[in-house]
Amino acid sequence: MSANQTIKLVLIGGGHSHAIALKSWSENLLSGVKLTLISDVKNTPYSGMLPGHIAGFYNYKETHINLPYLAKIAGAKLIVDKAIDLDLDNNLVICQHSDPISFDYLSLDIGSTPKTSTVPGASEYAIAAKPVPLFLDAWYQLLETFKNNPELPLKIAIIGGGAGGVELALNMHSRLQQLISNNFTQNIEISLIHRGSRLLSGHNQKVGDLLTKILHKKGISLYFNTEVTEIKPDRVVAKNNQTIDTNYTFWVTQADSPQWIKNSALAQDNHGFILVNNNLQSISHPHIFATGDIATIKNNPRPKAGVFAVRQGKPLYENWLNIITKQPLKAYFPQEKYLALIGTGDRKAIASWGNSCWQSSLLWYLKDYIDRKFMNQFN
Ligand SMILES: Cc1cc2nc3c(=O)[nH]c(=O)nc-3n(C[C@H](O)[C@H](O)[C@H](O)COP(=O)(O)OP(=O)(O)OC[C@H]3O[C@@H](n4cnc5c(N)ncnc54)[C@H](O)[C@@H]3O)c2cc1C
Repeated sequence: MSANQTIKLVLIGGGHSHAIALKSWSENLLSGVKLTLISDVKNTPYSGMLPGHIAGFYNYKETHINLPYLAKIAGAKLIVDKAIDLDLDNNLVICQHSDPISFDYLSLDIGSTPKTSTVPGASEYAIAAKPVPLFLDAWYQLLETFKNNPELPLKIAIIGGGAGGVELALNMHSRLQQLISNNFTQNIEISLIHRGSRLLSGHNQKVGDLLTKILHKKGISLYFNTEVTEIKPDRVVAKNNQTIDTNYTFWVTQADSPQWIKNSALAQDNHGFILVNNNLQSISHPHIFATGDIATIKNNPRPKAGVFAVRQGKPLYENWLNIITKQPLKAYFPQEKYLALIGTGDRKAIASWGNSCWQSSLLWYLKDYIDRKFMNQFN
């Protein structure tokens, strides 16, 4: 602990859990604690509304949490920089530009990025869905190019048949369709390429089947059981030398952990995500917390989804307080079943809950209500 007894709590990443925990902190400021937030962005995207932003239903501001404001109300120092390493012997965070930042307690909520490293050409020629700012820059640029040259054929390939890939395909389709008056399929081809035999394998079969039907109906080409082996500037190459022509390739596959976390001494699962206990503490370094995509709860692993990162915000905040004030920590148990609302780009949504599945425009309004309510708490 610091000599002057000021406790240094350092947060890396302004993800969903940290945003909620900072909001709670702002409502009950604790003296004797120096709070620092290290974030590589000033505005952090809210995943629930990101597909709606692609479709043009929400603007940038509506879908991003303003971290300088949040840090200000929480009395936190915001350092806009990227953490690139941890010195766990000396309790230091190493950043790209700033001096090392010392901590007594550390909390990580840095998300994940799609795994590109194993496929040749993917890092060079595919646009990963994360980091979101780079992805959005590429999308805005695509839209500009398309608006200025609507007569040119546009071929988009999306790799990954999970919720992210399907939502991107549907919402990109929706946005591009809003921009053209002639027959959509004449100029634009969207292909969704998936290595599995059904979409959204983490959900019940009815969800995948319904989404397959919707994608077909919108003219989006589906490639199942297609293992991508290489990305070239103008095409995607799959096993058996199958090729799919493309001008833009988006990469939305399985979540991966950054190399600096993999290189750290923090205990990890098989994919390099930080293993935490039910108190959200690292199982190897109990003064370090981790939540959201970057964490795997050892006894209750769950899919990497924003809904869990959101749910962990409150218990994370409570355990920061508990550890600082030397109170017993409280265990958090993620729910087994969760309601997923998947926007289909047409102001309708599909609800997936256990073995059930429904689609309606009412669900879109419910999703819109929930998402706006979530974002309003940060205004
Ligand atoms: C296209 C797409 C659509 C999705 N749609 C949904 C959906 O509808 N519903 C859903 O539940 N999930 C969805 N997901 C999944 C969802 O995005 C993630 O599960 C969620 O964002 C995880 O939240 P998080 O708090 O862990 O991290 P994030 O929301 O990713 O936040 C991490 C933050 O940390 C910052 N950061 C990262 N590295 C560093 C660093 N080294 N130093 C400093 N700062 C750093 C990032 O810039 C970011 O601000 C979608 C994912 C994709 C790709």
